[in-house]
Amino acid sequence: MGESTIEEGGVWVISEPSDSDKFDVIYELNSIGRKLADRNNNTLTLVLIGYALQEKIEEIKRFSYDYILYAENKMFEYYDLENYANTLVEMIRKYKPGVVLLGSTLYGRTIAPWIASALKTGLTADCIWLDMNEGTLIQVRPAFGDNIEAEIICPRRKPQMATVRPHVFPLAECRDNDGTCKLVRYDVTNFKTDFLTLLDRIKVLENSQSLEKAQIIFAVGRGIKSKKNLDMVFELAVLYGAQVGATRALVDMGMIDRKYQIGQTGVTVKPKLYIAFGISGCIQHMSGVLCNEIWAVNNDENAQIFKKATLGCVADINVFLPLLLNKMKE
Ligand SMILES: Cc1cc2nc3c(=O)[nH]c(=O)nc-3n(C[C@H](O)[C@H](O)[C@H](O)COP(=O)(O)OP(=O)(O)OC[C@H]3O[C@@H](n4cnc5c(N)ncnc54)[C@H](O)[C@@H]3O)c2cc1C
Repeated sequence: MGESTIEEGGVWVISEPSDSDKFDVIYELNSIGRKLADRNNNTLTLVLIGYALQEKIEEIKRFSYDYILYAENKMFEYYDLENYANTLVEMIRKYKPGVVLLGSTLYGRTIAPWIASALKTGLTADCIWLDMNEGTLIQVRPAFGDNIEAEIICPRRKPQMATVRPHVFPLAECRDNDGTCKLVRYDVTNFKTDFLTLLDRIKVLENSQSLEKAQIIFAVGRGIKSKKNLDMVFELAVLYGAQVGATRALVDMGMIDRKYQIGQTGVTVKPKLYIAFGISGCIQHMSGVLCNEIWAVNNDENAQIFKKATLGCVADINVFLPLLLNKMKE
């Protein structure tokens, strides 16, 4: 149990909690993690924390991880930042990986800084490309308002930590379980959790299909102007089987919840079709839109969004939306 079988200096991917709707990110990190580990002649480990993990472990074994390091305990049944982070810090101290990767999801973005600060190492958030050069992780991320791509290295501290934007690396292909993936169980210390106190659990009802997985997105920006127009976009989204997304401007105005925000500080989406209603097309928003088919409705013919759009309509939202909705209802 918990034997030190994993080689030092390898590449680790930290899994999302097993019930996370962003769980697939570990298969994207599998494809890039594999390349980095091979380039460094070292192993690739998936770290999984949770409860009743057997089904997940069987699923992960079919991907090209060399090890699954897992901590299974009743106290991990529900995600708790302090317990999860403390366990990960302990594991990293014990096995000493060279590189630790997480998804740039709500989970990764919250827990990665906690771990990096406990280990007094660096962390590059939101990477869009990674490479390895003689043990040094080359971390590429947008910088200065997304106008340049910066290469960042952390040569003096270990592990080298990065969060990676979802959807920028392809999903790894799964294979038959050929028995090459080894399991290493980690025995958990019973931590005293005194930083956070759990008062209650409330189930949040989410949209059945998450924004990140949506095939069609109707995105709304400051130009939407009124609650009435926003309601019309939601109604249209139902009719078209689309999900609604938003810019930060609209979120900051309090018109829509933050979970709808797309962009640099929101979610990254990869739909087949993205329609922008009253969105100017700022880089911080568009960097979260990985899509070849962008349609835009805006009353300013010089709006930046039209440079990206494959189909553009110069129109006033107040006129356009009721017309479209009526047409659809017909
Ligand atoms: C560090 C940082 C991180 C950020 N992260 C994000 C992020 O993750 N996501 C994000 O979205 N933003 C982000 N931003 C904010 C971003 O820079 C922009 O301010 C924001 O995206 C603009 O939103 P918008 O297009 O809705 O608003 P605006 O830029 O104000 O554009 C509104 C558009 O609506 C049009 N319009 C107005 N009235 C009408 C009408 N009646 N009919 C039709 N069109 C109309 C206008 O012509 C205009 O083009 C970030 C900014 C910073 C500095």
